[in-house]
Amino acid sequence: MINNMEIPDPFATFVAHKYANFKGMTYDFFGKEWRLKAACCGEELYAPNKKTMNKIRLYHTRNECLGGY
Ligand SMILES: [Zn+2]
Repeated sequence: MINNMEIPDPFATFVAHKYANFKGMTYDFFGKEWRLKAACCGEELYAPNKKTMNKIRLYHTRNECLGGY
């Protein structure tokens, strides 16, 4: 931690706080995509925006995920 040269990006910090309310969904500033750790199985899902993320999450839970079964 002493040698951490990274300076926090004020804009990134702002956006992170702005979107902190979206439960479980975080924005990857480097990959420029949304990341969600699926509640059903812990698998990580990625999407370019929140709308797509919701579609991917629904598709995952309905069609892909075998967690809990
Ligand atoms: Zn799952």
